Formats: sequence, structure tokens, C-alpha cells
Amino acid sequence: MTRISVAVLGATGLVGQRFIQLLNGHPWFQVAGLAASERSVNKTYRMAARWKLDAEMPVEVSEMIVVDPDPREFRDIPLVFSALPSDVAGPVEEEFAKAGKIVVSNAASHRMDPYVPVLNPEANADHLSLIEDQRSHMGWDGAIVTNPNCTTAVLTLSLKPLMERFGLEKVIASSMQAISGAGYPGVAALDIVDNVIPYIPREEDKVEAETRKILGPKGGSADFKVSASCHRVSTIDGHLEAVFVETVEDAEPGEAVEAFESFRGEPQRLRLPTAPAKPVVVRYEEDRPQPRLDRMEGHGMSVVVGRVRKDPALNGLKYLVLGHNTIRGAAGCAVLIGELLHAKGYL
Ligand code: NAP
Repeated sequence: MTRISVAVLGATGLVGQRFIQLLNGHPWFQVAGLAASERSVNKTYRMAARWKLDAEMPVEVSEMIVVDPDPREFRDIPLVFSALPSDVAGPVEEEFAKAGKIVVSNAASHRMDPYVPVLNPEANADHLSLIEDQRSHMGWDGAIVTNPNCTTAVLTLSLKPLMERFGLEKVIASSMQAISGAGYPGVAALDIVDNVIPYIPREEDKVEAETRKILGPKGGSADFKVSASCHRVSTIDGHLEAVFVETVEDAEPGEAVEAFESFRGEPQRLRLPTAPAKPVVVRYEEDRPQPRLDRMEGHGMSVVVGRVRKDPALNGLKYLVLGHNTIRGAAGCAVLIGELLHAKGYL
């Protein structure tokens, strides 16, 4: 099978590097274009990227030349993964959609646009068809599809099985978010070492709104309430979240564990290459999940749930959930969306 050419915008950043790693040897996609800021343009990827991943930089991309994020530079490339900063991504991604490309974006710029789906494929693959409404409304041949903010991606994957089984009334989430979530160079060492920063700009609003959009009806918003408190801690990768839910039906911890264990989504049914065998993995030890031990579960694509117990304050449950922020929460989720787009005939 001929592989589909794809481009990565923001290829030199932390999420961009994850894209490069996950697309290396991908069975359906081949990296054919890289873009970043003026700082990197006209340099080889090897010279431009300050490579931060444990694995070596793939040789196939190391000598590619980084260009401007301009659709004219990517004529024969139908699928574009964007890891641009949100303050840059908005108009750039629109130019690509106008030029007929499908953009799968990590940036927040378009997530809350009414015709743009925010996809966490196991939770709401059916929202993909919003693309048709988007095209007729915007009058472009391409499309913009987004993945959730990292904290929301982890949270919604754990909430979906509970919503299906018991219904949701209220969700309260308190996050412990890794340093890599702030990009590179991100948070200064003097601020984060030996410390917790109890504020992440705009994060709580994103978690609250995106969770309801993902778990709501296509084009709408779920009617349960969500409250988030977000905090930066000094782990490198992996966001850990303490979650408290009020359910519509009574929920026993054992039944919730069963719902988590048996949950599968459209990516598993379609056997998409990046889909983990189990989207939600349950750990039964009383001191798990832990970021260092559990973030690579399912190659970083599963979320890991533990300490599922009754909540005495809400009519429901409380638990911990952990997910890899630059894989399930960013590049991995976007590649999975790319695979879903291909499987559904959009490419
Ligand atoms: P990052 O490490 O700061 O990387 C930013 C990337 O964008 C770099 O490639 C940079 O290129 C490029 N860039 C910056 N300004 C540009 C401009 N004016 N024109 C073209 N390219 C430009 O950030 P990141 O953590 O990878 O995040 C990327 C996006 O993903 C953001 O929207 C972020 O909110 C989102 N996101 C991040 C995470 C996470 O866990 N980190 C999770 C979910 C979503 P240079 O290297 O040339 O400067």
C-alpha cells in the first residue's frame, strides 16, 4: 500500500517531536513536510529541533528542511498534523483548510468553534461527521478537526464508560500535570523544582467546556456539570487526575471497574494501528496509578485508572486516572484521529 503523505506543523516542539516519533514507520502515513517558526526555517530538522525524547531522532526526517507553515509549501499533502501554539494556529490552520487539506490540530484555537469536532476517538468518533456541516458552512474543501487538551483527553476517556453505564450528573476533577505539558522550554526550573504551581492559564475553562462538548451530542454540549482545578507538578510526563463523579444511576465500585475493563471504542472495532487494545486499564494496587510507572501503558495510548471507590459526599464514585500528556493527550490522539479519517474515507 502507498503511504499517505502527511505534514507536521510545529514539528520542532515537544508535541511535534512526538508526532515525528509516532509517525516513524507508520503503516499508513509518511512524513513528507515539516514546518516551524522563523527560528527553524531553512534548517535541517536535526539542526532545528532540540530533541527531548528518549528514542533517537528518526533518520528519515533528520535531514529534511523545515519550512514556513504555508499551504503552498505542502501541495501534494492531504493530511496535516498541527502542533502550533494556540496564538499562532488559528488563521494558519484555516489557510490549510481553505487549500483543501484536512488539519488535525492540537491547538485550542478552533476547539470550541461550533462546526469543529473535538475528538477523543474512543469517546465520540461519531462527531467526525461534523466535517460535512463545517464544509458547507465555511465553503472550504478541507477541514479542521481537533483533539482535546491533554487533561481533557485523559479525563473523558475515563468518563465515557461511566457515562454509558450509569449516566453522569456532576464531574469534579483535580489535576497534577507534568512539566512537558507546558512545551519547551516551558516552566523555569526555579519555579517548578521542589514545588507545585496551583495555576495553569486557561486550563480549567478548557477542561470544563471540552469535556461537555466531547461527551455531549454531536454539535452540542452534555448537560452534566464539570468543575476542574488544574495544577503543575514536577513530573516530566503523565498527567494524574483525582476525579469525583455523581452518577444518575447508583454505581458500585465493582460495577465501575467492570465498565472500565470492558470498554472498547470505534478505534478498537476498526483495529486502527495506533488504537490500544484496552483504552482504559485498571490497576488494583492501592498505590497506583503512578506517572513514572504507568504513563507508557498501551504505548502511552491507554489511560490507567486506580483506587476506584465510593464517594461519601456525592452520590457516586471517586478514582485516580493517569494518561501520557504528549501521547494520549496530544500527538497520539491526533494520529489516531488521522487513522479514523482514513478508515472513514475522508482522505
Ligand atoms: P512547544 O514545545 O513550545 O512547540 C511549539 C512549536 O511551534 C515549535 O515547533 C515552534 O517552532 C512552533 N512555532 C512557534 N511559533 C511559531 C510561529 N509563529 N510560526 C510557526 N511555528 C511556530 O509547544 P508544545 O508543547 O509542542 O505544544 C504545541 C501545541 O500543542 C500547543 O498548541 C499546545 O497547547 C498543544 N498541546 C500540548 C500538549 C503538551 O502536553 N505539551 C498537550 C496537548 C496540546 P520553533 O521550534 O521553530 O520555535
